[in-house]
Amino acid sequence: MADKILEFVHTSTGKQIAAALGLPVPPMLKRAKAGYAEKSLANSNALVGASAFGPVASAVVKALDSMGASIKVSADLAGLDGIKQAAAKAKVDVSISQADNGVPENVYVLDVTAAANVADLRLLYDFFNPRLRKVPSNSRIVVIGRPRGDCKDALAETAQSSLPGFIRSLAKESGKNGTTANLIQVKTGAENGIEGALRFFLSPHSAFVTGQVLPVVGAPKGVKVAAFSEKPLTGKLAVVTGAARGIGAAIAEVLAREGATVIGVDRPADESTLGATMSSIGGIACPLDITDADAGKKLAAVAAGKGGKIDIIVHNAGITRDKMMRNMAAHLWDMVLDVNLGAIVRCNDQLLAGDAFGANARIVCISSIGGIAGNAGQTNYAATKSAVIGYVDAMAKQLEGKGISINAIAPGFIETQMTAAIPVVTREVARRLSSLSQGGLPVDIAEAVTFMASPLAAGVNGATLRVCGQNLVGA
Ligand code: NDP
Repeated sequence: MADKILEFVHTSTGKQIAAALGLPVPPMLKRAKAGYAEKSLANSNALVGASAFGPVASAVVKALDSMGASIKVSADLAGLDGIKQAAAKAKVDVSISQADNGVPENVYVLDVTAAANVADLRLLYDFFNPRLRKVPSNSRIVVIGRPRGDCKDALAETAQSSLPGFIRSLAKESGKNGTTANLIQVKTGAENGIEGALRFFLSPHSAFVTGQVLPVVGAPKGVKVAAFSEKPLTGKLAVVTGAARGIGAAIAEVLAREGATVIGVDRPADESTLGATMSSIGGIACPLDITDADAGKKLAAVAAGKGGKIDIIVHNAGITRDKMMRNMAAHLWDMVLDVNLGAIVRCNDQLLAGDAFGANARIVCISSIGGIAGNAGQTNYAATKSAVIGYVDAMAKQLEGKGISINAIAPGFIETQMTAAIPVVTREVARRLSSLSQGGLPVDIAEAVTFMASPLAAGVNGATLRVCGQNLVGA
């Protein structure tokens, strides 16, 4: 499902016409062409600041160094001392920024976890204001703060509460050239989860994620945050529902790219498409209706037949049956509730009861920004997608003691058969009403799911991450 306007304005004729008519040109996003690489920032200059020396500044310096970034500071740089101390302690080199000499940074990381009052927020201005006129296209901005309930007093909590508003606005200002800006809220003691989150947000794997807040709360009981390794899903058995086509097929492909063996599930009527998708990635096709009363038990049996337990399950299969509430037949309500919600709950319950999850298993559910903003004609769909957000939050607390994590991804407008069916004017408006002025691709959801399914997100639990280019709908 191609975005013809985006393609056209990036041709030489299209560029001239857009310039002559003063039309906005949606940026061409740089997406990942391969899996996660250890030295993912080998060609990047990263400008870094911190409100104080501490565990977060240290974790940031070590993470950027392990990614191969060239860490930059300058004499006038706000937050210099915290970074200098962290770098000295970690024996990591920092060098002087050459941005004023035409070598701009394309990565910006600011640790403001120590901001504890209104005056401390001046650091945000001092760090970003002098830099933002020369940010190259597809740059990455990450601010790191603390989540609600983590601060010593009300004033510190107030200062930290400024950050979501700040980052959402910065993302709206920066998106025109494909730059993203996101906030990591790291809980005190969970600093070892920062590197994984940075690896995602500072890479092309998160090209369509902007204006978002990701809480890093710490790994579940018994789970060690492992050092980064390439192909982090090697040896993992992953189940993906709705894998025959669309977003599910992309998820299966990206999980396989990172080393997982995928069991792809789809309705028996889609067996041949599912078979083709799975054979292209060396996966296992499992024709199964997820609303089957024993779907979870059947999946456990398929995994056991492959000699293993389920390390990852992605509950992606979903349907829409849109009707205004006043006109909706009861069976359309029931069908959507069962596929999008009831089947997920039943399946997880059966897998848990049957001890079918491997150690440190990761569950990822697919929500939707429709579940956050609501849409006329989608009361059934939005109820399920909203429930998924509450489900992962509640289940994270329940599963934490078992070493299992559960998170959700909420896609925005994604170019699939589902959105191709939207009337043309509505579709065009939905596409452009985002900070990146375009819809996402199935691979954008697949990348975010893969992050959540991988050890990179070891410290993330109970979260819902929107992958929507900061669509104004549901903002
Ligand atoms: P598609 O309709 O393209 O694909 C969904 C797949 O799930 C289909 O292969 C479908 O099979 C399968 N499926 C449906 N019901 C069942 C079932 N009972 N058992 C097994 N498989 C089933 O959807 P998308 O790829 O667009 O969406 C994937 C997920 O992303 C969904 O949860 C959707 O709600 C969510 N989402 C999508 C957005 C978008 O813009 N596309 C936006 C927000 C959220 P069949 O074709 O036979 O029905």
